[in-house]
Amino acid sequence: MWAGMHRDLERILIPAAAIESRVRDLGAQIALDLERVIGGDGTEDDHGELVIVPILTGSLVFVADLVRRLPLKLRLELVGVSSYPGKSMETKGVSIRHELPNILSGKHVLVIDDILDSGHTLDVVTRLIRDQKPASLRTCVLLRKPGKSTLPVRPDYVGFDIPDEFVVGYGLDYDGYYRNFPEIATLKPEAR
Ligand code: 5GP
Ligand code: MG
Repeated sequence: MWAGMHRDLERILIPAAAIESRVRDLGAQIALDLERVIGGDGTEDDHGELVIVPILTGSLVFVADLVRRLPLKLRLELVGVSSYPGKSMETKGVSIRHELPNILSGKHVLVIDDILDSGHTLDVVTRLIRDQKPASLRTCVLLRKPGKSTLPVRPDYVGFDIPDEFVVGYGLDYDGYYRNFPEIATLKPEAR
């Protein structure tokens, strides 16, 4: 059934089973940490509300799986970002397509993105959130290309470190396609 897509793919970098197992572990770790922050055990802020902020569109599949591993009372608020790939290392390469509502003041926020590459996307989004003065801010990415970021962006949670190759699947696209492919794969040069 996936034959049409397999023709364009070079190799599977992370199989579906490995993603599932890592998402389960990430969920357990994040749930423990967040429970401590919002938990109401009197040690920190026991009336904090938890808001998950997925960065669209790439994080959609990851977030759908991850939030079902977080047995906590939480809300989702989406932010839409487009990045323009290119040589330019400036923030103008990132544009907001769907604005974040101004409701994060005093909330415990977890931002989720699909992949950390140059770090500009996460940098821009975390700046916007900090402007709203949340009670706390954490960041999570499924994938990270180590050594690529020139910015002081360090996610609190990382699913996998991957080599500096262009990947698709599990939410990540090329030209809008392949997001529904269940594994993370590299693309054949002729498919790009
Ligand atoms: P950054 O802003 O950190 O350079 O890049 C983050 C964004 O660029 C991600 O949210 C993603 O949309 C896109 N991106 C970076 N590397 C890849 C990749 O290997 N594959 C895909 N599909 N998107 C990528
Ligand atoms: Mg993205």
